Amino acid sequence: MTISENVADVLTNVANTETQTGHKTTVIGVTKYVDADQARALVEAGITHIAENRTELFLDKQEKLSDLSITWHLIGTLQRRKVKDVINRVDYFHALDSIKLAHEIDKRANHVIKCFLQVNVSGEASKHGFSPDELAVVLPEISNLSKVEIVGLMTMAPIDASEAELGDIFDKAKSLQMAIASQALPHIPCTELSMGMSQDYQQAILHGATFVRIGSKFFK
Ligand SMILES: *Cc1c(COP(=O)(O)O)cnc(C)c1O
Repeated sequence: MTISENVADVLTNVANTETQTGHKTTVIGVTKYVDADQARALVEAGITHIAENRTELFLDKQEKLSDLSITWHLIGTLQRRKVKDVINRVDYFHALDSIKLAHEIDKRANHVIKCFLQVNVSGEASKHGFSPDELAVVLPEISNLSKVEIVGLMTMAPIDASEAELGDIFDKAKSLQMAIASQALPHIPCTELSMGMSQDYQQAILHGATFVRIGSKFFK
């Protein structure tokens, strides 16, 4: 299938799923597998939110597509020493996974940076992110950082999760997000949920995702 056929397919599925939930979901196109020309084709087919997971590729794509109107997401683990190179070019950062990183972002940012706290809901050892218990401790500290705005939570399900396990992980992320939002801490609105990828985006939307991150599905 062509990129535009894939886009039409995904957007139709998202629209149908949204009708069931009654909430809006933004589709983010993950372009880490492809070059700038294919990323351009994705934008021209209607996906205007674009994500990369590595600083160098992020900056490279952004430069090559600077003539297009794009909302830029950085989704991968960010090393503290690279924060200064990239953070002021990012519209949304999805992988805030340590308090030290939050301090570094606050220090280097020229304006308020929209961030998702990455949470490890599944407890998988290989996954980055705060455990639900750690969140209670770090939230008051993060809320003191005026340039870090916690717009929501981001989570990743294990690739081998069953349908039931997926539902459970997405539901846990949703209840955590709502519990944090209800605390109404300064700089922590936490109204959004970034979860769901090519394999599980429809299920994620049914469980409350407001951003889905889709890569491979667009490029095959
Ligand atoms: C690569 C990647 C995605 C997209 O994964 P696909 O399965 O290709 O849709 C989503 N989120 C993160 C953090 C990624 O690194």
